[in-house]
Order: sequence, then C-alpha cells, then structure tokens
Amino acid sequence: NTFAEIDLGEALNANIRRCKYVKPTPVQRYSIPISLEGRDLMACAQTGSGKTAAFCFPIIYGIMKAGQQIQRPSRCARTVYPLALILSPTRELSMQIHEEARKFAYQTGVRVVVAYGGSPINQQLRELERGVDILVATPGRLVDLLERARVSLQMIRYLTLDEADRMLDMGFEPQIRKIVEQMDMPPPGERQTMLFSATFPKEIQRMASDFLSNYIFLAV
Ligand code: AMP
Repeated sequence: NTFAEIDLGEALNANIRRCKYVKPTPVQRYSIPISLEGRDLMACAQTGSGKTAAFCFPIIYGIMKAGQQIQRPSRCARTVYPLALILSPTRELSMQIHEEARKFAYQTGVRVVVAYGGSPINQQLRELERGVDILVATPGRLVDLLERARVSLQMIRYLTLDEADRMLDMGFEPQIRKIVEQMDMPPPGERQTMLFSATFPKEIQRMASDFLSNYIFLAV
C-alpha cells in the first residue's frame, strides 16, 4: 500500500514524493478513497495521524480536475470566492495547515491562502485579493472577513472542520454555525464536508448530523 497506487494525478503525486511520503498513514489509507468518491466523512483522528494530508489531497485533486470548469462570479467589490474552506481552531494550526497545503499544491495551479486572528488583517486581505482556491481560516477571523464582504462562501465545494472538538471547547460553535449557514445560499451545488475530531462527544455528533449528509464514520 503506497501513494503511487492511489491515482491523485501527476502533479500531486510528484509533490507527495517530494514530501517523502511513501506509505499512507491509517487515516489517509481509509479516508482518501472515501473522499475521492465524494462522500462526506466524520473521522476520529489525533494530531500527528497525518490528517492534514488526508483532507488536503482529495481537495487539491478535486479542484485540479474541476476547478477550471467552475464559473466563479466576476469579482466585484473585492469579494473573493474560494472553492474550499478548512476551518481550524488556532492561528498556529492554521499556519501549519497552510504551510503543508502549499507544499501539496505546488505547481498544481491551486492557490492556498490563510487568514487567522491576532494578526493585522491587511496583509491577509492583500493575499486574498491575489485569488484563492483553498482558504484556511480560524472561525473568528473568517466571520470578520464575511462581515466585510471580502470573502463569499457561495462557491464552496469542500468544507473541512479540523479539530472540531477543540473548536467547540474554545466556544466557536456560534461562529461555525454562522459560517456554514452562508454556504447554504444559492447556487446550492454539491458540497462535500469532512469533519475531523480527536473525540466524539454528543456535541460533535450533533454537528455531524447537522453538517454532514449520508456520511461515513471512520475511527482509526
Ligand atoms: P498531521 O497529523 O497532519 O499534523 O501530520 C503529522 C506529521 O506527519 C507531519 O509532519 C506530516 O508531514 C507527517 N506525515 C503525514 N503523512 C505522512 C506519510 N504518509 N508519510 C510520512 N509522513 C507523513
């Protein structure tokens, strides 16, 4: 069982080799085929399990394959329309995901941008203005960007909630609900959602049943 056996396209496979990943970790082995089929996923996975690659590979692959055909509204009033959103609880984790996702997306034409709180927004706005396919964000800063109408979630095809239990512990549930509500505006389209959490308490189960449809549950 190696990455060479999973068809993720030449560019992505080259980046995986460049990262020196040979064998998928358990969460990658089971979740990547599920995600490539387009199914929603709830995965119990710890930090260090390789979950970043598990959710990034199918997103990058999907955008590489279909991104060109997806017609995005022409940018007016400097609003940008990402195709994928990765929500994470902290600035540190967002930065880490961004850094990894950029390596995976190298020379694929897929652009990854990060936005987190506790840091001036202007630099992040400038990065967004240069275009964004995958947005990695913390919930508070994203709500700010939505209120300023600098980001629209109308075109989101892929939603990932990373470390969902930690986001709830930090009190982000209202922001997360507000964010997800914005994706239900027309045009509906198909949205694929992946929820990653180290634990699976009642609150996470409720979020899974609210945000995921016909999902596969994976515990590794
Ligand atoms: P994560 O759980 O996504 O934070 O990943 C933990 C660490 O494992 C990171 O440093 C990754 O770069 C590394 N990693 C993830 N998947 C693999 C893999 N299949 N082979 C080798 N290293 C990996």
